Amino acid sequence: MGQGRPPGTGVVVRNWYPLPVAGSEAGGRVFADLMRLAEMVEAGQPGWTRRVFSPEYLRSRELIWELMGSAGLEVRRDPAGNLIGTLPGTAPDQAALILGSHTDTVAGGGRFDGPCGVMAAIEAVRRIRERGGRPRRTIWVVDFLGEEPNDFGISCVGSRAAAGHLSPEHLRLVDGGGRTLAEALAQMGGDPDRIAEARWPKGAASAYLELHVEQGTRLEEAGRGLAVVTAIAGIHRAEIRLEGRADHAGTAPMAGRSDALLAAAEVSLEVEQLGLRGGLGVATVGRLELVPNSPNVVAERATLIAEYRSGDPSWLSATDELLQEVVSQVPSRRGVRGQLSWLSREDPTLCAEELSSVLLASAREIGEEPLQLASWAGHDAVQVAAICPVAMLFVPSRGGRSHCPEEWTDPQQVEVGTRALAAAVTRLAV
Ligand SMILES: [Zn+2]
Repeated sequence: MGQGRPPGTGVVVRNWYPLPVAGSEAGGRVFADLMRLAEMVEAGQPGWTRRVFSPEYLRSRELIWELMGSAGLEVRRDPAGNLIGTLPGTAPDQAALILGSHTDTVAGGGRFDGPCGVMAAIEAVRRIRERGGRPRRTIWVVDFLGEEPNDFGISCVGSRAAAGHLSPEHLRLVDGGGRTLAEALAQMGGDPDRIAEARWPKGAASAYLELHVEQGTRLEEAGRGLAVVTAIAGIHRAEIRLEGRADHAGTAPMAGRSDALLAAAEVSLEVEQLGLRGGLGVATVGRLELVPNSPNVVAERATLIAEYRSGDPSWLSATDELLQEVVSQVPSRRGVRGQLSWLSREDPTLCAEELSSVLLASAREIGEEPLQLASWAGHDAVQVAAICPVAMLFVPSRGGRSHCPEEWTDPQQVEVGTRALAAAVTRLAV
């Protein structure tokens, strides 16, 4: 791995003549590109698996490189392994407009989460060039390295580096095979020794737009084709340890037990209630560990992780307090000691209103009335928001399914998203 330099490496495309218009085929090009990429998957893995540090991912980016190059973008790979295609504008003093997403998948993932945004961004540039235009503002199309979680326990590797948030400690993280993140990055064509250079200089980026699949059912239920994202949910995670007393499951009478499992069950149901209130957030207990976890012993200890997400910072802080009340009251009613410790508390990322209003106007320009909603999943835009204003467009996900082989967005829906994105690029950069 690592040697296979993509075709076009070092070749600077400086052809400002319009590309041939593909006529009525233009609308199908993004979808065709998505299907081409989908052929590049890991053998022996379920679904459409293309995980970040796999040879297939490395190879698939030769296709991204080729597509960017043929759209007229000058392509380079930065030290974090991000592929960046640049379309220089006529006003070099103006900060660049950035479009991007990712092309890696989770194990057993689908064909749309990530690639949709990269392919639509490339197509937006193609359309500008087909109209014979050269943008005023420089445009970057970015395929961020490794947005999905990986064996190093870190997501958004490439966008994190662009934001200057990939630390030397991150680079020393080790996967199950003993490889460091730095070594894995080098195998992807990155240069960990120069990782600081992957950070986008202050003022280089004016705005970031990301098109993504919704990964939920709100668009489908509303019968709409587009959503403008208001915020990307913040995530709070708390570990709750419940200390009871181990007893013989036969000889200990029902009254007087200190059953940590039952306390955990009650706490979990209370967490569900926290998520059910107000419709502004979701709350989950997805992990529970028991000691001794034995069929004939009353559970002595239970450790669970409560996670909740919202695009509304006040909902999150109110939920923090309510969860603390739950942990201080519910277990003690069962003679169990409860203790809460925070694992992480990330604020929501708010999308920039001026940019979102450009997306709204662009959607209306092509005859769509978008929903406005929060994203419950994380995205590269969260990292980029540390550098410049961000905004996102969602296209529908059939049945809300994602991170699974059934993930699907209709070609016409992909096209609607692409047209809206292209219209926004025209407003912001041309
Ligand atoms: Zn994604």
